[in-house]
Amino acid sequence: MAPSQNAVPLIILSSCLAGNPVRYDGSDKRDADLLAALEFARLVPLCPEVGIDLGVPRPPIRLVATDGAIRVQGVEDPTLDVTDRLTAWGEAQLPLLRSCDGVVLKSRSPSCGVEGVPLLQADGTVEETGTGHFAALVRQHFPELPLADERQLQDRQRLASFVVQVQAHFAKHAGRHRG
Ligand code: SF4
Repeated sequence: MAPSQNAVPLIILSSCLAGNPVRYDGSDKRDADLLAALEFARLVPLCPEVGIDLGVPRPPIRLVATDGAIRVQGVEDPTLDVTDRLTAWGEAQLPLLRSCDGVVLKSRSPSCGVEGVPLLQADGTVEETGTGHFAALVRQHFPELPLADERQLQDRQRLASFVVQVQAHFAKHAGRHRG
């Protein structure tokens, strides 16, 4: 089914990149260049950490490698473990993810970062090898969905390629789209 004339691709975007002051310290990460590049699409801002009611401001969290698993825990208070809450929230977003054409997330975040997120090891060292909890969930459930972080999209070729992928996804799945 061809998309209707008024239909446009839908992209889920980290809320802080859209300019919403939702970071742990109450700041935002508005990215004007990125927003201009994504003007062709309808943007849906999401913040996993606000989504699980951590509030703003909130204690910072990080990825922690534990016995074969990766948990998301408080930096100052490791007994604050929000992994299961993030999983439940992420799974509640599956219908929205199913109807979108791409996802752009904030780099280096324990929730949103797509690659190279700091990951605390058992020996206390930090390796930049992690993937944020929500980004991992997106990849797990929708491996074909175009997914990138804003740092990756600073590369013009990568941005152009991402836009082509989003448009192709939109054309292919238009029959499932909201009006
Ligand atoms: S990086 Fe993700 S979790 Fe952190 S403030 Fe931005 S949208 Fe929220």
